[in-house]
Amino acid sequence: MALRDTRLRRRCAKLLREIDPVDPFDIHELVARVASWQNRPITLIPRTMSAGLPCGLWIAGNSRDFIYHEENTTPLHQEHIIAHELGHIIFGHQEDDPEFDEHVAKLMMPSLPQVVIERALGRTHQHRACENEAETFASITMEWATDHRPSRRPASERLAQRLERISKTLEDDRGKWNE
Ligand SMILES: [Zn+2]
Repeated sequence: MALRDTRLRRRCAKLLREIDPVDPFDIHELVARVASWQNRPITLIPRTMSAGLPCGLWIAGNSRDFIYHEENTTPLHQEHIIAHELGHIIFGHQEDDPEFDEHVAKLMMPSLPQVVIERALGRTHQHRACENEAETFASITMEWATDHRPSRRPASERLAQRLERISKTLEDDRGKWNE
């Protein structure tokens, strides 16, 4: 892993700690936390995204942010998409994202062929640095989520109880051994 990536991962992990996600993980709670972190509401809009669009898109309104995300996919993938868009919001990418106009055009006019949109906007851009930042934030978030799933908690509690029972049995047995 390149040093640049390691630094970026650390930066994303620091940002996530600042945002202080709710434990156990819940994507809607995370969206609410990011909203309060930036002091600006965020609305999620599930949508069947048309061909040529990314699975998610962030649009900054006057007083709130909107995240469009693909609804025809697994809950886990939806969480990843939303976390990716949150990454764009947190890093403040929109103003300098050359792909943005193209994506909005596709969202508003899904029937327009890609080539027409590209011609109208006069460009076909890739904005790799922004995408890398957003995607790194998404993967750091999903790693945190994996360790903080609601279902994990009862399981670990059950395990703790079992260990307690075992060690108590051993203690009892040791008592016997000393007799
Ligand atoms: Zn993106």
